[in-house]
Amino acid sequence: MHKHHRALGLATAPTGSRGAAAIAMLRPVQPVTLLRPHAARRAARYFVEKFPGRSLYAVKANPSPDLLRILWEAGVTHYDVASIGEVRLVHATLPDAVLCFMHPVKAEEAIAEAYFEHGVKTFSLDTLDELEKIVRATSTDGVAASDLNLLVRIRVSSDHAKLSLASKFGADPRDVASLLMAARQAADALGICFHVGSQAMTPAAFAEAMTRVRQSIVEAAVTVDIVDVGGGFPSSYPGMEPPPLDTYFAVIHQAFESLPISYSAELWCEPGRALCAEYASVLVRVEKRRGDELYINDGAYGALFDAAHIGWRYPVRLIRDEDSHVRSMPFSFYGPTCDDLDQMAGPFELPGDVGVGDYIEIGMLGAYGCAMRTQFNGFGVVDSVIVDDEPMASLYGASAPARTNVVKL
Ligand SMILES: *Cc1c(COP(=O)(O)O)cnc(C)c1O
Repeated sequence: MHKHHRALGLATAPTGSRGAAAIAMLRPVQPVTLLRPHAARRAARYFVEKFPGRSLYAVKANPSPDLLRILWEAGVTHYDVASIGEVRLVHATLPDAVLCFMHPVKAEEAIAEAYFEHGVKTFSLDTLDELEKIVRATSTDGVAASDLNLLVRIRVSSDHAKLSLASKFGADPRDVASLLMAARQAADALGICFHVGSQAMTPAAFAEAMTRVRQSIVEAAVTVDIVDVGGGFPSSYPGMEPPPLDTYFAVIHQAFESLPISYSAELWCEPGRALCAEYASVLVRVEKRRGDELYINDGAYGALFDAAHIGWRYPVRLIRDEDSHVRSMPFSFYGPTCDDLDQMAGPFELPGDVGVGDYIEIGMLGAYGCAMRTQFNGFGVVDSVIVDDEPMASLYGASAPARTNVVKL
């Protein structure tokens, strides 16, 4: 981290409590990622303490090693990884973490490396071909591994989610029973997993998926040891304010308790977004204004991919020494690259007098924002600093637990 801070001259900034406003006062030329470890810690503690089972962090939402260490220290011991790159990264960063390779379509070489070099025992699959691949890749001298946890991914509806994950993965309902029976033969522990889609706006999404889990178990008549409800737990964005997370947990717990499974069966979940959305925001500068369009120094090839490509809305606020008293109006953003596609429709509500040289904080970019940055067109080199003010929205209560104001840079 330290090498990034020098460029900003942050060493000379006042110590003590530090928020977005203090960073804007330094008038950074590049966008700055504002990191809130306390918010990630709070989210992790919430899942560790309140989810009625085990919470795996879905690494693709934000693979930052700093974040991985924060989650680990807050009690997250299991990690959902989807590529050999994520396997290597998490194993190197957190050597004692339990890794679960939950991409249902993997290279055979990746499975073998994960199993033999990184101790990965847990794999998901949605076809017989993948099952055979896993068995082959983890065998030694023709003898099949006896310590595999195999989770069959079933297809469920994405109707309640803002981002569908229903078409790409998941076994067809007609194939699930035979797949479960075949996987049972190869597995030490057998599981069923699914993903209701990202940003599921109602707990009913999980209740409906659990109905499918029940049908599959009954039809296959196999003993199931793990039920993994996947990710999809929401965060809070403008126009997308979900019900409290504990209502999701209650619905999942109730559905799990009524499944025909053994008393010792485990319940897992794989939150990505919900654990890290509040972890980061980005401080950008306005370089040009044209009517209700603001040209800012981050965009579609930076942390705003989802804002550009799927019209995701993020909270924004103008950061000035003195608050503007001009009435708010809707703006759209252009990013810094020369590409027309580098445009974020919003609408983003900001005071009507916002203009060149102003700083804007764009919130809730810790999940799928910072992780998707590119260096296209020479942009994307971003400073990051740790701040201790509150994220622009939170699902974990405004009454933050007591914490120290001392920020180490
Ligand atoms: C992306 C993904 C997740 C995390 O999803 P969120 O919507 O961010 O919670 C969990 N599990 C799997 C298999 C995924 O692909």
